[in-house]
Amino acid sequence: MAGHDLDELYDCLRRVAPSACPCCQKDDWILATEPMALVPWVKGLNKGLKGGGVHAVVRTCGACGFVRLHSVQVLQAIADADRKAR
Ligand SMILES: [Zn+2]
Repeated sequence: MAGHDLDELYDCLRRVAPSACPCCQKDDWILATEPMALVPWVKGLNKGLKGGGVHAVVRTCGACGFVRLHSVQVLQAIADADRKAR
């Protein structure tokens, strides 16, 4: 997905969601090098929504394998606001 700085998104993610894994309580997140997943909308409910779903960055718990997704749109908006505030 073009137009997003992955390092910036991950920096933002670490700041706003520094939590441990909800399954095993460890803090051993692996950030995907292929950053973007598309979580598709259910067919018929996506009228007017560009891209057909939620674009997300993926992080996986290195201790138990739990997978977590965070919205690229939300992280990018936070990163953009932070950059403007500097
Ligand atoms: Zn875990």
